[in-house]
Amino acid sequence: MIKQAPDAWQEIRDAVRALCAEFPDEYHRKIDEQRAYPEAFVNALTKAGWLAAMIPAEYGGSGLGLTEATVVMEEINRSGGNSGACHGQMYNMGTLLRHGSRAQKELYLPKIASGEWRLQSMGVTEPSTGTDTTRIKTTAVKKGDRYVINGQKVWISRVQHSDWMILLARTTPLADVKKKSEGMSIFMVDLRQAEKSGLTVRPIPNMVNHETNELFFENLEIPEENLIGQEGQGFKYILDGLNAERTLIAAECIGDGYWFVDRVTKYVSERVVFGRPIGQNQGVQFPIAESYIEVEAANLMRYKACALFDAGKPCGAEANMAKYLAAKASWEAANACIQFHGGFGFANEYDVERKFRETRLYQVAPISTNLILSYVAEHLLGLPRSF
Ligand SMILES: Cc1cc2nc3c(=O)[nH]c(=O)nc-3n(C[C@H](O)[C@H](O)[C@H](O)COP(=O)(O)OP(=O)(O)OC[C@H]3O[C@@H](n4cnc5c(N)ncnc54)[C@H](O)[C@@H]3O)c2cc1C
Repeated sequence: MIKQAPDAWQEIRDAVRALCAEFPDEYHRKIDEQRAYPEAFVNALTKAGWLAAMIPAEYGGSGLGLTEATVVMEEINRSGGNSGACHGQMYNMGTLLRHGSRAQKELYLPKIASGEWRLQSMGVTEPSTGTDTTRIKTTAVKKGDRYVINGQKVWISRVQHSDWMILLARTTPLADVKKKSEGMSIFMVDLRQAEKSGLTVRPIPNMVNHETNELFFENLEIPEENLIGQEGQGFKYILDGLNAERTLIAAECIGDGYWFVDRVTKYVSERVVFGRPIGQNQGVQFPIAESYIEVEAANLMRYKACALFDAGKPCGAEANMAKYLAAKASWEAANACIQFHGGFGFANEYDVERKFRETRLYQVAPISTNLILSYVAEHLLGLPRSF
């Protein structure tokens, strides 16, 4: 394993590592082969309180910051696991915490902290609009004391393993708002109840073992008290949560990056070809060293984003850049890892191909690399808006 001096979060790292050690490679490999959900692993994380890290103590959580939450996610991925099964709760909970009413927080947060309820899903993306979120077509129309939901979502993760979902829907038609970002609202959707009364869930088989789905809403009625914050302000609320999401994903990629560097370093030190370890060749050493440098550099931006977020300061630029750098670094490390494992990189039992698939996702979701570049060009460099 790469030698690293203990940092300020060593206690958290050691505790999460100890828990993850109970779920070795074979566990994650089997779950991947079966396309199953890592139920026992997620339950153990919940029981130990890690998935309630950011819930304030008054609601039963541990009241930690984003920095600590990212350390938890990093360690899961560094251990060979995949935080994708459970990271939703960290940022979804933040949306509820920042914009929910006192009554909503008292209702949901203690139950989420205790593990009775999971809030792992967020429904934003739609098939016909993609990244152009303000054009979403799912509508929520107020009828008496209820909202009636109609429309469709795609790629909505963990719906089958969550009790609640935060849903973004249009409450005022696009044609009737001054700014296209207005007129959307967010709601808490009770998933098991919804499936009996207007929500159809269709799983999407995909390249990674990531439970994700198409959702069809047909006159789904939800009580008005499930609206979070003010009607019409939902897009802004979702954007607030995205900085946390991006920083958490950056930390997961950093965990992946270290995992790839650890594994490939060990392998090339032991694998002998032409009478010497392959790691003695500079052609093998350099891409690994380069990956390590890039992971370390991305890590600095991740901590910068975390520090700003935890201080309540704007961190959009840093969160986006951390996610960009970390996703790129983990992907380069993944390439070096699979390359220098030769044929064995493709064998399931080495876990490299699984982690390779898993880390590739983060160039596309939850935001594509191009959209981050576009954000930097427009918002940081002042270049003309391209869309
Ligand atoms: C496994 C998985 C899980 C997901 N989970 C969730 C979830 O839980 N909830 C949720 O709401 N969504 C989820 N998503 C959706 C994800 O956020 C989107 O896939 C992502 O934002 C890209 O949107 P899109 O797929 O519609 O791509 P599109 O918007 O169609 O874009 C396709 C590609 O075109 C390029 N592109 C598009 N517009 C531009 C532009 N203006 N300039 C330059 N390049 C551009 C980008 O490279 C992009 O990758 C998930 C996706 C996947 C694959």
